[in-house]
Amino acid sequence: MAIDFRLTARQSELQLQSRRFAKEVLSPVLEAEALPTPEERFAATRPAYEAVIAAGFLRKCIPLSAGGESAGLIETAIIAEELYAVNASVALTLIGTLLGLLPLLIGGTEEQRRRLLHPFLKQAGAPLAGFCATEPGGSANAASPPPGEGVRTTATLRGDRWILEGRKSWVSSATGWDRKGADILTVLCRTDPRAPPERGISVLIMERPVSGLIFERAIDSVGHRAHSLPQFRFEEARVPSDNVVGTVGGGLALTAACFTGAAALVGIFAVALMRAAFKFTLGFARTERRGGILPILEHQAVGYALADAKTAIEAIRSLCWRACQAVDAQSPSAQELAIQAKVLGSETAVRVLTDLMRVVGIESYDHALPLGRLLQDALALPLFGGGNLGVRRRQLHAILKMLEYDPLASVSEVEV
Ligand SMILES: Cc1cc2nc3c(=O)[nH]c(=O)nc-3n(C[C@H](O)[C@H](O)[C@H](O)COP(=O)(O)OP(=O)(O)OC[C@H]3O[C@@H](n4cnc5c(N)ncnc54)[C@H](O)[C@@H]3O)c2cc1C
Repeated sequence: MAIDFRLTARQSELQLQSRRFAKEVLSPVLEAEALPTPEERFAATRPAYEAVIAAGFLRKCIPLSAGGESAGLIETAIIAEELYAVNASVALTLIGTLLGLLPLLIGGTEEQRRRLLHPFLKQAGAPLAGFCATEPGGSANAASPPPGEGVRTTATLRGDRWILEGRKSWVSSATGWDRKGADILTVLCRTDPRAPPERGISVLIMERPVSGLIFERAIDSVGHRAHSLPQFRFEEARVPSDNVVGTVGGGLALTAACFTGAAALVGIFAVALMRAAFKFTLGFARTERRGGILPILEHQAVGYALADAKTAIEAIRSLCWRACQAVDAQSPSAQELAIQAKVLGSETAVRVLTDLMRVVGIESYDHALPLGRLLQDALALPLFGGGNLGVRRRQLHAILKMLEYDPLASVSEVEV
């Protein structure tokens, strides 16, 4: 009886609570996406994000062992699907904050967690965190040895402080609500320029107020229009020496661990966007005759396209839930499954969105309908959380090149 895709009573309640919340609170905030500048759009989502926090959704994504309420990644996936299906920008502000905390949750000491997590466990305010990996000029080759540049941001130990210099970009919410910095930034940086990347790169934690963080610009992104994606730099930014997460030099391994669970969640974002588009398109096909005699759903071409879309949604959700279960169980196949969920889910979402736009026809090209927005959001999925070409397929390639790789391991695991 180990394979059972039914939700527990607790998970089902979480799903319904998240769905109700998204409809009531996040749906009206979509209007923010029409504001002229990225910063105005992000600022307009703040009351909704405060409501997300007040309703306890961030607490519900933080593990019980760290003082939160989450019993596992599958619960985060349930919340993420419901929130993302309605408002990808605000949902990503929540999940981006969780990503910013992940190094602490996975590799932090008890003392660091006690000291740094409390603003994120309260059900008040609008706390933000960001994981700063991406840099202008590219980050797919962060692990490159010389002469590749790899991670360019540096941290130099002076007395009891690390001094950071460098630039970062595309980091969710990193400059906070006021350009001065999120409450916590976890920063991937080079702590030993002479060591090979697997020993010379670390994750440091910066606490607000961040000295030496300089806002450069708010990126005007194609989708996630009301989400904050700044470009910024560190100039003599100071971090206490005990704010290294995990070991000094262990930053790449910690980042890879954080991005495993995150990959499964990107797959769930894909499910959320496809599901929202499917619901809209089915309604359109049931009611619209487009000048003909019958609702267009009666045309076989339309029915088949909708059937294919629904099949894709079910398949990707199953793969994502399996990946979440593997991450929660710390299964040896977790990384492979999570990356597969990310790569296949993200690319399927882009295809399904365009297929559904063809079903609706020309009206889908009007922003008065939701499909254009959903496609714009979906276009990010193959690109972020580690690009599918520059990062994720390379990781899958590396897994299957390992001598001990067993293609059947993911289906041969025995419950212990
Ligand atoms: C909405 C959104 C939110 C984001 N949030 C964050 C965040 O919170 N934190 C963060 O750090 N980043 C964030 N990003 C950035 C994102 O995670 C990117 O996936 C990441 O920076 C890697 O980008 P890239 O793969 O395009 O890398 P780049 O280095 O820019 O590579 C560009 C392209 O070059 C090619 N390429 C490069 N090297 C290789 C190689 N060795 N082999 C094969 N092909 C190669 C690939 O085609 C790749 O797509 C976000 C982006 C978006 C859109």
